[in-house]
Amino acid sequence: MQYYSTNKKAPMADLHKAVVKGLAEDRGLYMPETIHKLPKEFFDNIQDMSFQDIAYNVASAFFGEDVDQDALQEIVFDTLRFDCPVVKVCDNIYALELFHGPTLAFKDVGARFMARLLQYFINMDCEQQVNVLVATSGDTGSAVANGFLGVEGIHVYVLYPKGKVSPIQECQFTTLGQNITAIEVDGVFDDCQALVKAAFMDDELNKHMKLTSANSINVARFLPQAFYYFNAYARMKEIVNCGASDSQSLVMCVPSGNFGNICSALFGHEMGLPIKRFIAANNANDVFYNYLQTAQYEPKASIQTLANAMDVGDPSNFARIYDLYGGSHERISGLISGATYSDDQIRETMRQCYAETGYVLDPHGACGYRALKEQLREGEVGVFCETAHPAKFKEKVDEILGIDTPIPDRLAAFMKGEKQSVAMTKDFADFKAYLMKQ
Ligand SMILES: *Cc1c(COP(=O)(O)O)cnc(C)c1O
Repeated sequence: MQYYSTNKKAPMADLHKAVVKGLAEDRGLYMPETIHKLPKEFFDNIQDMSFQDIAYNVASAFFGEDVDQDALQEIVFDTLRFDCPVVKVCDNIYALELFHGPTLAFKDVGARFMARLLQYFINMDCEQQVNVLVATSGDTGSAVANGFLGVEGIHVYVLYPKGKVSPIQECQFTTLGQNITAIEVDGVFDDCQALVKAAFMDDELNKHMKLTSANSINVARFLPQAFYYFNAYARMKEIVNCGASDSQSLVMCVPSGNFGNICSALFGHEMGLPIKRFIAANNANDVFYNYLQTAQYEPKASIQTLANAMDVGDPSNFARIYDLYGGSHERISGLISGATYSDDQIRETMRQCYAETGYVLDPHGACGYRALKEQLREGEVGVFCETAHPAKFKEKVDEILGIDTPIPDRLAAFMKGEKQSVAMTKDFADFKAYLMKQ
């Protein structure tokens, strides 16, 4: 399979190149040249398949031409060593719980898949060391660091905004050591992202070391996220009678920041997954919401909110969504509706949901739940992604709900480690000088 750049000014790349490079030469994002539709029989029988088998079928459609069958199956099965269950919250609303992985957030799926695929390519070529640069607003860093921890031939640099990620998030990538280096940037998430992007464009640096990205822009990270949407459909088919020809239609609601997660769901939709429509739920960072209303895409600086993993002012994957629908605002706004919530609304939603259903939402999932509450129509059943375990935001959740959220063992283990990080300014010259010494 060949991958083209959303900016259309770079040569096509094969999967290997697209994964190692991350971003195309023209700063565009890679897109698969074809999206294979899955056969009707697959969807007819999907409810009888396991999550791993469903995922392997989806993975084959994307990666089957470029990765040996047995190796791909092993990568998929090893990535999905945990479940992504669908849980009923209230009448017509279900949570797709994506927090059962090692770092308790959905990014574990993409990060684990990418680490294993990259290692497959490195082993095949006996390549020199590959350096992964990743900017994080919280959860990406921990998922990527843990996905790559101890993987030979790969070193990971995690850039994060000083003082803007929760202590629990921070310990998940600053205490690991080994092949993981945490870099604490004096700035906001967009500064971290700008440093990573500048590093990829710098010729001298790229001659000095082999760089790749593990942000949600990487095809090996964002495409595998489609796996759990197919599985969610299968599990919903078991629970309620939903689907294209059935009585209830499925609405998928995705709390969004950089729009990688919802973008993978849209790819699933293009492959034939019977989801009727989508909702992109945002916090106060409302760039995409405004685009839906006005057809104008106007990036702005990010605003800090309670749902901090969604504090993105210029979502990278907008370019992919735009490209996927030929730049048509009509098609995009016909399929996806938006929502934007203030911190007060997030708090109110968490309290209301807990009081009415007993379900503990994290601040990100709360945006998704509320959007479904407000927008679900007659004859529809809604699934929202619960993108992180509430314990990852324990201080906030406990304060808002007046409870003591239990900390799962795998999270408690991180909190015992000692923080190690490198202080950095948001000036690219400093970051470059640091990397040139490595
Ligand atoms: C990353 C993240 C999001 C946003 O996902 P995108 O793919 O960037 O849109 C939402 N919630 C949580 C908990 C996250 O970590």
